[in-house]
Amino acid sequence: MKLFPVLLALLFFAATTARGAEYVYDLGDGKSAVLLDGKEGQAAITDEGGAEGWFDRLGKYELRARLGHEPEGTTLEEKKTELKEHLRTTIEDWTEAEREGMVRHMKQAKAAADEVFPEFIPNRWYIVKTSGKDEGGAWYTRSDKTFFPKQWLDQLDSESMDSFYRHILLHENAHCWSRANPELREELYSLTGFQPVNEIDLGEWLGDRVLTNPDAPDLRWVSNVGSEESPRYGMLAFTIQGNDFSMEFQRLLMSGRPTMYQVSEVNDGSWKVDYNEDGTAVAIQRSDAKEFFEKLTVNSNYILHAEEVLAENLAMMVSYFAGVSPAWGQGSVEDPAPLEELAKALGLEVAEPATK
Ligand SMILES: [Zn+2]
Repeated sequence: MKLFPVLLALLFFAATTARGAEYVYDLGDGKSAVLLDGKEGQAAITDEGGAEGWFDRLGKYELRARLGHEPEGTTLEEKKTELKEHLRTTIEDWTEAEREGMVRHMKQAKAAADEVFPEFIPNRWYIVKTSGKDEGGAWYTRSDKTFFPKQWLDQLDSESMDSFYRHILLHENAHCWSRANPELREELYSLTGFQPVNEIDLGEWLGDRVLTNPDAPDLRWVSNVGSEESPRYGMLAFTIQGNDFSMEFQRLLMSGRPTMYQVSEVNDGSWKVDYNEDGTAVAIQRSDAKEFFEKLTVNSNYILHAEEVLAENLAMMVSYFAGVSPAWGQGSVEDPAPLEELAKALGLEVAEPATK
């Protein structure tokens, strides 16, 4: 009988640990907010299945910066194992106040989506808390989960931040939605001029410099930034600038710039990045593709990838037509036309909002 209290204590511990890793809150209409930490969070952050090849595409500089040291392994599998070990250490436990604050903002984001595009919000809307040492303090998604760094959780109670959190939640959810709807994704990317290709050979110089975005690891989208008569094709990539690759990951990320690189078709769906004689990739200046960039940046300068352009526009579309503030740090609605076009492509019935 002496073992009994010990066993009971062990059972109780196991149950609370398992329960504590997944907190479910009702959002109405059969939908739930699901906040993960512990083992559930660790499984989500290392989930290769929903990562669209992110783990396989990491360049040597970004991998070293993420790990904080040279990888000890030499094979891709060994490096991935090291990275996953690091990522597991970045999962943090939610506090009760953070969970309540996050759910309040998720309800506000859902209320806006319900006015415009109810299917946009998933039945189980997952958020995972991290230390920020996973992705340099950035929000991002993998599979159907959004990862939220803890440094952005200390203003959840400030009402002046309501539109900020709504935008971030809608933007990150847009990546999960787009990932789950690959055919619609392709159609919506084409609204801003991007089309898919089978393969793009980045070459060594650019391959080393790409900062691989978990929300958009697949760079195989090209656009004609010239004219129909004299086409010039480009590929958008978020790349490390300069020659200092020894920085910690957050600084490397801050040094990154969205850049359009010139590409040409080698044969049937296989493309390559064009290179200068000095071994650097040919960059297309914005001034050389004025019309293209003017259209792309009409409401937001957040243009790291066709996927980021879409996520920005989806988030703005929801808020704008719901009549709540769609503005945030890098964008505001200067021209609703692209949002109307997006709504039309999605078959949504929207009307000019009365107040915004
Ligand atoms: Zn994004």
